[in-house]
Amino acid sequence: MRSPQKMKIIQIDITNACTFNCSNCTRFCGQHKAPFFMDFETFKKAVDSLKDFKGIVGIIGGEPTLHPEFDKFIKYLAEHRPEYRKKTSIKYPVNSLKAYFEKLKYMNGARCGLFSSFGEGYYKHFELIQDTFPYQSLNDHSNINTHQGILIPRKEIGINDEEWLKKRDKCWIQNLWSATITPKGAFYCEIAGSMDMLFNGEGGWEIDNNWWKKEPSEFNDQIHWCENCALALDVPSIPATEQTDLISAEMEKRLLEINGWKMREKKYKIFDAKTYNSKDKHKYSPIWYLQENGDNGRVSLINANLTPKHIDIVLLNGKSEHTTISEEQLQNLDFKDFVIVFYNKIDLELVEKMKKCVFNPGFFYDLGKVGVIFNSRAKALENVDNIKFDKNLKNLWPKQKYSKISPKTIGKLNLSQKLNLHMITLFNRINGLCVKFMHNFN
Ligand code: SF4
Ligand code: SF4
Repeated sequence: MRSPQKMKIIQIDITNACTFNCSNCTRFCGQHKAPFFMDFETFKKAVDSLKDFKGIVGIIGGEPTLHPEFDKFIKYLAEHRPEYRKKTSIKYPVNSLKAYFEKLKYMNGARCGLFSSFGEGYYKHFELIQDTFPYQSLNDHSNINTHQGILIPRKEIGINDEEWLKKRDKCWIQNLWSATITPKGAFYCEIAGSMDMLFNGEGGWEIDNNWWKKEPSEFNDQIHWCENCALALDVPSIPATEQTDLISAEMEKRLLEINGWKMREKKYKIFDAKTYNSKDKHKYSPIWYLQENGDNGRVSLINANLTPKHIDIVLLNGKSEHTTISEEQLQNLDFKDFVIVFYNKIDLELVEKMKKCVFNPGFFYDLGKVGVIFNSRAKALENVDNIKFDKNLKNLWPKQKYSKISPKTIGKLNLSQKLNLHMITLFNRINGLCVKFMHNFN
């Protein structure tokens, strides 16, 4: 066990609402009766309490972008936890989510992090997210990854105190991942915090400036949560997409009382305690979720979640049956998502390529003689009712959100982007192997 101050990340669980109900979810999505949404006062306290914490403050759920006050929360975070590391904006259209993901999963130097599964909320808050989070842990759950069984108390599988204490103190989640703050206080471990929410526990520590400096010897009032949790043990994993929890027979009774969706729909399996053999590592050793194939499979190559949901087309000089809004509508910002404005000729092939790329809606993309692309939801247009379409239009956007691109690059990575992607992938791979080595070595 570690003190939270030695962790790389401390989480703030702002909601446990999620678009998924993955198997063995660490936030027990699908087991709750109703999701929680942290209130703003608690969030402010949480951010303020971590002022001197040197690592990353992670915003997590559930799916955190589903929080109705996500914008307000994130603006507060950005203001009160300034970043020193340069953020990675999507300056150029991205034609592979994997390329995008690789840029964001480098932790060092980041102070704010987001954990998201790329839903509608992520698309909606895209610009704000890129402006705020240099580190993002993204998992669209479209590829198979596995989640280890959690709700299996060690006493039910007959693990004696001696063996248990050794295993518990080496728990990979607590030793690699995070402490957390939930609406009910601060916790030494994110799973303990989630269990406290699920089982209506006594709540966590007061969210003051020192809670995260506690040492393991001070965890006594919370450590009982470990007794319900099998993450330090060698119980099997289940593909997340099966939406099925592996639980113990006693847990079944407790969860039936809560009567969440997974219990109502019988989305659970009872773990046969007799089959447990802690020496049978080969059979039960949890598949390493974090850094092996699962890591590269966290984000699919298909950009469906983040590619433009709608593209309006305008032609400035001339007429075409392919325009979708008039010049007047353009000037009144009477469109909801992306617009591509062609100067002289509509290029439908370009529009098709655009549909397969990820664009930052906060950017003004200048396509030279061909036209421009922008989004009516851009922060630059927040207080603007109408625009004049001339060469000064781009000045509404800050310089760092102006991007001059050749239309030919839409839908393709150029050589330096490809090289960059390979370098970052290689770096993350080596970093991952080091983490794994250190974990095994410990
Ligand atoms: S994406 Fe899956 S694992 Fe993550 S919070 Fe949602 S249900 Fe849980
Ligand atoms: S056993 Fe479970 S509750 Fe305890 S530290 Fe590990 S993950 Fe957290």
